[in-house]
Amino acid sequence: MYAGPKAIFYALSRSATLTRLASRYGMATRDSFARRFIAGETVEEAIEAARDLEARGMRLTLDYLGESVRTMDEATAATREYVRLIDALVAAGVERNISLKLTQLGAGIDRATCVDNMRRILEPAQRHACFVRIDMENSRWTDLTLDVFETLWQQQYRNVGIALQAYLRRTEADVKRMNSLGARVRLVKGAYKEPATVAFEDKSDVDANYLRLTKLLLDEGTYPAVATHDEALIAATKAHAAARAIASDQYEFQMLYGIRRDLQGALVRGGYRMRVYVPFGRQWFPYFMRRLGERPANVGFVLRALVHERSRA
Ligand SMILES: Cc1cc2nc3c(=O)[nH]c(=O)nc-3n(C[C@H](O)[C@H](O)[C@H](O)COP(=O)(O)OP(=O)(O)OC[C@H]3O[C@@H](n4cnc5c(N)ncnc54)[C@H](O)[C@@H]3O)c2cc1C
Repeated sequence: MYAGPKAIFYALSRSATLTRLASRYGMATRDSFARRFIAGETVEEAIEAARDLEARGMRLTLDYLGESVRTMDEATAATREYVRLIDALVAAGVERNISLKLTQLGAGIDRATCVDNMRRILEPAQRHACFVRIDMENSRWTDLTLDVFETLWQQQYRNVGIALQAYLRRTEADVKRMNSLGARVRLVKGAYKEPATVAFEDKSDVDANYLRLTKLLLDEGTYPAVATHDEALIAATKAHAAARAIASDQYEFQMLYGIRRDLQGALVRGGYRMRVYVPFGRQWFPYFMRRLGERPANVGFVLRALVHERSRA
């Protein structure tokens, strides 16, 4: 099994003790360490972050954190939270765009109920011109996620899009399928630990595949989202779009809240569309640990923040 930082942080993310400790310190005050990556625990805090981003010329998508629910009650509660979130976005007058995970809506318990929960979200979303992006989780869920997405697509929902991961060997075929449907794809490198049988292991292979798929999406896709903080890939995307005379409003860049804010600002100043993925909610620990796993240097940042926080306590 792959034993890089992703695997270690994944194992740690399942520790009950760490979850308890992190919940206590991570978001306790405005300067707590998890706030660099998570907008807050409440809808109000998320909307405050959204307003701030909009004031700086950015677009946004809000993610009410949660995944892998174990009971139908939890899936129903998450569905209700998303409906409430759409109402809150409408009331606040900020952009209506949300991201969610199917295992949060019960995909791991019962597929049909998960589709029903998606419809419960897509209906009010459609009425309020809100776009709903389905995040992609680990490869155990890829088939099911695409299958649920296509079911909704066949039912004529068009305010829904999907994320695909360039580290998976299968993704070129999935990009072509989504392009043929006319579905909107967010391309990411992929955040989970995966075996070599399904995913490229070398960064150079992932990056090469990311660029190949970006070009396929720009040339043949529908308003693709290039979701990466990788400067070389961003430059290559701009160059390809310019060479093909693809206008900068025909695609968008996306980045995560709190990561490469300098680059986010530079893209906006350069006239490009930039959407920030804004996660919020109480179940922030697994998301937070994936961000640490991507860049172990972040651990130093967390430790420094913790020492600082405790010395002030
Ligand atoms: C909008 C958005 C949505 C996403 N949705 C999904 C999804 O649905 N499913 C999924 O599997 N993954 C998702 N991801 C995560 C993605 O798969 C990658 O794990 C993540 O974006 C890091 O990869 P990178 O493309 O930035 O490239 P990398 O090569 O990992 O990083 C490039 C540079 O970005 C900076 N950077 C990257 N990560 C961090 C970090 N954690 N902390 C500080 N700096 C960092 C560093 O400067 C690094 O050198 C999403 C990412 C974005 C931006």
